[in-house]
Amino acid sequence: MRISVPAETRPGETRVAATPETVKKLAAKHELLVQSGAGLPASVTDEAYVAAGARIVAAAEAWGADVILKVRAPNAEERAQIKPGTVVIGMLNPFDADNNAAMAAAGLQAFALEAVPRITRAQSMDVLSSQANIAGYKAVLVAANTYQRFMPMLMTAAGTVKAARVLIMGVGVAGLQAIATAKRLGAVIEASDVRPPVKEQVESLGAKFIDVPFITDEEKEIAQGVGGYARPMPADWMRRQAELVHERAKLADIIITTALIPGRPAPVLISEETVKAMKPGSVIVDLAVSQGGNCPLSELNKTVVKHGVHIVGEPDLATLVAADASALYARNVLDFLKLIIDKEDKLVIDREDEIIKATLLCTGGELLRK
Ligand code: NAD
Repeated sequence: MRISVPAETRPGETRVAATPETVKKLAAKHELLVQSGAGLPASVTDEAYVAAGARIVAAAEAWGADVILKVRAPNAEERAQIKPGTVVIGMLNPFDADNNAAMAAAGLQAFALEAVPRITRAQSMDVLSSQANIAGYKAVLVAANTYQRFMPMLMTAAGTVKAARVLIMGVGVAGLQAIATAKRLGAVIEASDVRPPVKEQVESLGAKFIDVPFITDEEKEIAQGVGGYARPMPADWMRRQAELVHERAKLADIIITTALIPGRPAPVLISEETVKAMKPGSVIVDLAVSQGGNCPLSELNKTVVKHGVHIVGEPDLATLVAADASALYARNVLDFLKLIIDKEDKLVIDREDEIIKATLLCTGGELLRK
């Protein structure tokens, strides 16, 4: 089988869908084509791919393979070069109905890795987790760079410097890593989430959990989430959370927001009123900016200063850790490939498999996810 790795063309995308490590594993049994320069933004040279068993090709040949490994969905021009029946695997954005329909019309067999279900068997293919982990880490470093003070407490001959207070809103994979990273830098940390099990995780990392009490059974039930993801909370609970967060935000030096609800706009957690109440020079890093933002003042791809607060709206912080983000992503892709390649090295797509069912967007012209 011919498996190819085209170069990513989306602005700002630095990751690559296969590394020499994963190419080496695949090249033993398949023909591996890597577009010239595909790995360079992640510091992987063509020579490293060749040493791992790949052949370096031009874009046109890469788009002609049987299986195409991608980070982002191919654009219209790229899609037009892919032959019907080709398997395309990547973070294809399953909530983009137009793109799903276009891929179906092109006859592709497209798998969106963001839709991998949160079951134990699929953990090694979970791209949202591997990339969110990196984004949570980088969010703290970006915040520390923007912040004009120290993170740890310092006692020096010139006087004492207080530790930074960091508030983390949304404690999933990114939020937990942000807590761990801020802790390593010596910050004092508080965190909030809707899901009750998060409290124990937050406390085990040495941070304080902001408890927003559940008053009704309905609130408790919704807060459990579904499939490991949060659901939109009732307005009354959100109001109580906002009041508590407003008070904590006044004391915070850095806020990192990561709260997401799949397929919906991100919940607003830091209102303009709250930003106004924050200390001048404090920093917000809004990891939910591409879903509308947890702070309505954040702007996509920009760092802005509003009411004296620096608000970072960088949507894909994992792209700033290109080499390791690619290494983990490529391993996720390799594990997914094992699911659709049988022992005889043939493509076998079991439509009854739970992971296939969740990720397959279209096949043979049929649109499975609208
Ligand atoms: P996510 O990126 O969808 O959301 C980030 C966080 O925002 C979540 O913790 C969510 O509860 C929170 N959130 C949503 N609305 C909020 C609000 N109004 N206020 C505060 N917080 C809010 O989530 P994620 O990081 O992908 O992971 C969610 C959970 O799934 C985590 O507990 C993670 O450990 C778990 N997980 C399980 C598996 C598995 O079992 N295979 C794999 C990956 C993740």
